[in-house]
Amino acid sequence: MVTDETKTIRPPIIVILGHVDHGKSTLIDHIRKTNLVAREAGGITQAIGAYEIVRKDKTFTFIDTPGHEAFSLMRKCGAEVADIAILLVAADDGVMPQTKEALDCIKKTNTPFIVAINKIDVQGANVEKTKSDLAQNGVYLEGMGGNVSWQGVSAKTGEGVEELLDLLALAAEVEELTCDPKADAEGVVLTSMQDARSGIQVGVVIKNGTLKQSNIIKTETAEGKIRFLKNFKGETVQELGPSAPALISGFTSLPNPGELFAAGNDTTKLKEKIATKECAKSASGKTLDTKNEKILRLILKADETGSLEALKDVVAKIGKEKENLHVIEAGVGNITENDIKAAISGKAAVAGFNVKIDKAAKNLAAGQNVLVLTENIIYELEKAIQTRLKEALREPMGTLDVLAVFGERKGKEQIVGGKVVMGKIMNQSAFEIQREGEKIGEGKILNLQMKKEDAR
Ligand code: GDP
Repeated sequence: MVTDETKTIRPPIIVILGHVDHGKSTLIDHIRKTNLVAREAGGITQAIGAYEIVRKDKTFTFIDTPGHEAFSLMRKCGAEVADIAILLVAADDGVMPQTKEALDCIKKTNTPFIVAINKIDVQGANVEKTKSDLAQNGVYLEGMGGNVSWQGVSAKTGEGVEELLDLLALAAEVEELTCDPKADAEGVVLTSMQDARSGIQVGVVIKNGTLKQSNIIKTETAEGKIRFLKNFKGETVQELGPSAPALISGFTSLPNPGELFAAGNDTTKLKEKIATKECAKSASGKTLDTKNEKILRLILKADETGSLEALKDVVAKIGKEKENLHVIEAGVGNITENDIKAAISGKAAVAGFNVKIDKAAKNLAAGQNVLVLTENIIYELEKAIQTRLKEALREPMGTLDVLAVFGERKGKEQIVGGKVVMGKIMNQSAFEIQREGEKIGEGKILNLQMKKEDAR
């Protein structure tokens, strides 16, 4: 518990959200490269999913999880992850679907935010239009009759980035983020991975307390005893305090990104702590409502920049006709496990043009039912995406609330009883099972009965 005697101000944890290609990675790279402290982090940032900068004697922690992960972390845990969000909008593109999603997420999690209008160096950048776009979406910037701080930046040239960091410092001061460094550590899992050489490594960010080497650590689905603790520079340390990113080895199984962790030396206390965590209890608890969402999300992969551009053009063409096609990530290279993870967390399909899929990625996709479309002819890929879009947009013929499940499951067959609440249910038709708006299974009706009589 943070009491008046124990409370100390901790550094802000910051996340950058926005539409694909608007410059999130470029900005986060620019901030890292131009900061002396963060520069020392080198390659380990990818493993932890966060880094620190020190500026004018103040520390800031930036969440830097690969691609769409940051967003899905926010959707799972929202304010549990970040203290302040930067909503980034490209001035040559304005507010786009994922800008709106990000905004929705920021609002639902009540996360304080500032706006970065990026790409001001690009020809065709229109800051004024972007500002009014934002106003149309309920974001009233300072100077536009509102009080949301904003800064025009170029993540590429660095213009405006220092001013943006000043705004962040100010926002953090206003938030007065307190913590108790004497407490046992609690925080959020950002990344988790396993390889033959280093075993299981878990990246976390500490929200309160001090994490110590040899602590027992527990999340909702995994636990362990800390063997090595590394800071964001990759140095082995004995302990790390509030807001610090940390890389931990010692977990016995992989926790999921977005889960909360508690650490200490009392196993029973840890269990209780984790059980009471709203976010850990149900990842869907604070998830945005995606119920009945008729959108096909895509992650695009291509063998080279030129073919990626071609793929983006094709998708833009299909998307123009239907507003329901959202590209959440795009990149060059084969389809890897990370792409599939991003697809799982972003509820997306992966479309690959002229690329192969790694074996690990293939296994993960098969196990998690992630749709992967790969073609070497762009026209074929276009057709495949169109077909998938049609399926995604298909309205159901009817909806049935499942009220009872009868007997044991025989092979893949299961008898259920229920009540038709919308439209009609027909024998031999395909169905999808949802729980709280999430698809959890699918199948085909083999027989249909009403009052114990076969029915069509
Ligand atoms: P993300 O998907 O939001 O992470 O976007 P990226 O950081 O990958 O940027 C997408 C593209 O826009 C890349 O080619 C960047 O080099 C480019 N880009 C990002 N920020 C700027 C900017 O401020 N100015 C210019 N000219 N290009 C930028």
